[in-house]
Amino acid sequence: MSRSKAKSSTFHPPVRTLMGPGPSDVSPRVLAASARPTIGHLDPLFVELMDDVKGLLQYAFQTENELTIPLSAPGSAGMEAAFVNLVECSDKVIVCQNGVFGGRMKENVERCGATAVMVMDRWGDPVDPEKLEAAIKEHPDAKVVAFVHAETSTGVRSDAETLCRLAKDAGMLVIVDAVTSLAGIELKADEWGADVVYSGTQKCLSGLPGISPITFSNDAVAAIHARKHKVQSWFLDMNLIMGYWGEGAKRSYHHTAPVNAVYALHEALLMLEEEGLDASFARHKANHLKLAAGLSKLGLEMAVAEEWRLPQLNSVLIPEGLDDALIRGRLLNEFDLEIGAGLGELAGKQWRIGLMGTSSNTVNMNRCLTAFEAVLA
Ligand SMILES: *Cc1c(COP(=O)(O)O)cnc(C)c1O
Repeated sequence: MSRSKAKSSTFHPPVRTLMGPGPSDVSPRVLAASARPTIGHLDPLFVELMDDVKGLLQYAFQTENELTIPLSAPGSAGMEAAFVNLVECSDKVIVCQNGVFGGRMKENVERCGATAVMVMDRWGDPVDPEKLEAAIKEHPDAKVVAFVHAETSTGVRSDAETLCRLAKDAGMLVIVDAVTSLAGIELKADEWGADVVYSGTQKCLSGLPGISPITFSNDAVAAIHARKHKVQSWFLDMNLIMGYWGEGAKRSYHHTAPVNAVYALHEALLMLEEEGLDASFARHKANHLKLAAGLSKLGLEMAVAEEWRLPQLNSVLIPEGLDDALIRGRLLNEFDLEIGAGLGELAGKQWRIGLMGTSSNTVNMNRCLTAFEAVLA
């Protein structure tokens, strides 16, 4: 049967500068890695690569957790895996919300049939540790505390170390969303006592989109083993995934890993190791400071208080009377520059300029300022 539409041809995307909330620019080195020959996902050489990826992820998360793996699905699957594995229908979970992604955590808790106790903060502010402390006092029977380290919808960092400590002191498990924080700002899974931390490849790691690095502490693994009911998701059940990502030769088929995307992740993690975590954080910070200074010269104002700004995600107030979609359209069409629109209640009010991973460099930062200067004129 022939298709009614005109004959298709090979897709050749333009070379964009990706300065939105993800995906970030993928370096030629990482793209080249992804173009190498596909091998079988149970080929002994791929199994070796899987082990190497696990070790590199332990470095990125700053953890010794044995169960540290890349899930074969985007950051949202990391979030879902954290909740479906730790939370059962009779459980109570304290969820801190100060933006879009905290709201998705609530959805996950409720879809597990569990009860979400919400700790709400204004979008644009960090999670307030005093409010969490009060919620923990009021609900000592809660099993899990969950929060977003770097709220990509608002560009706000929360004090993950303090929030983790409050939960651990109360004997609760902690789920940390580090999708945007990993490799961009300090994150110490073990030192902070985080039990499940998940991320994504398309933000500050600058791998190919579609993989979610995740790590589980021994307490988290024990909680999974102590479950009364089966994990409701077959694909994300860590009991089954452990058999696939477990030790060496014992590895058995669960699903087919995205082989070439794992090559890309491996290369991106090698680049992170070569640069070093601290140097990566310093680079993100330096480019953020220069961008913020340049935007201020153009009369644009940052949306977040200085102390809590994410260097990798710059929220900018859209000046009164400017057409949000028109400006973003011109940046894309005239400068091949993608920035992010406001999300949820911030749509039309803020822009989100990402300086994530490979995208966080001087050339991008200057290109962005030049483009803004031109379209605002
Ligand atoms: C991007 C993001 C996610 C979701 O990741 P996807 O790869 O888009 O599924 C979750 N949490 C936060 C904080 C994010 O920024």
